[in-house]
Amino acid sequence: MLSGKSALVTGASRGIGRAIALELAKQGANVAVNYAGSEDKAQAVVEEIKQFGVKSFKIQANVADEKETKAMVKEVVSEFDSVDILVNNAGINRDNLIMRMKEDEFDQVIDTNLKGVFQCIKAVSRQMMKQRGGRIINVSSVVGVSGNAGQANYTAAKAGVIGLTKSTAKEFASRNILVNAVAPGFITTDMTDELTHEQKEGMLSMIPLEKLGEPEDVARVVRFLASEDAKYITGQTINIDGGMVM
Ligand code: NAD
Repeated sequence: MLSGKSALVTGASRGIGRAIALELAKQGANVAVNYAGSEDKAQAVVEEIKQFGVKSFKIQANVADEKETKAMVKEVVSEFDSVDILVNNAGINRDNLIMRMKEDEFDQVIDTNLKGVFQCIKAVSRQMMKQRGGRIINVSSVVGVSGNAGQANYTAAKAGVIGLTKSTAKEFASRNILVNAVAPGFITTDMTDELTHEQKEGMLSMIPLEKLGEPEDVARVVRFLASEDAKYITGQTINIDGGMVM
């Protein structure tokens, strides 16, 4: 399905990013694994990817840093000759009530989750324009649509990602660069492991499908958006949330 394509997935050493990287590789894409934290985990993902018979390498970069993202994309193009698919998955949360939220907690989340998406889009833009084609898939969140108490920083960033997706889709459409977002609901990863049992039960009670999502549920939709089957879709956000927000 994606044979001969090259992909860059940010924050791909674990969780949803890892599942997306593996899914794209399973469909034949060469995949660059961006990471910020554990090099060993990133290398383990690279080894898993190679088992699908495609090329892969890991690359450390802070998605919020202009120089690092530029260098990252340069390396992807030098290794793979193109960058056909960019998945902006890297993200953090620093939850707190607004009255208690420190400026730093707000800034860190906006930097990584919103500015990071902008930096990576900007970094691939020239190459994708030159190629006259590409797919950009941004990982937002349903709380970017619905809001969530205790997550003003995170929800503002994720709502921003939806706006950024639409503006980029309009700017890049004439070059056949399609830009979409996915908005996961409650997906079981290290990020959600931090929630208390009560918080998890509370979430579960709001999900019509009565179960939590798996990283692979998100990865399969990203794979669809990266594929030829999605060639007439741009500027959209697809909720992957078991019906939680509708
Ligand atoms: P996770 O914490 O397991 O993974 C996030 C990854 O991003 C980590 O590998 C981390 O090292 C990386 N990262 C963080 N800051 C970075 C930076 N500055 N530069 C590069 N990499 C960086 O979380 P996850 O649950 O797999 O989340 C992945 C994405 O999905 C995030 O954008 C998150 O906001 C979003 N999301 C998750 C859920 C959920 O329920 N898990 C729901 C909605 C949206």
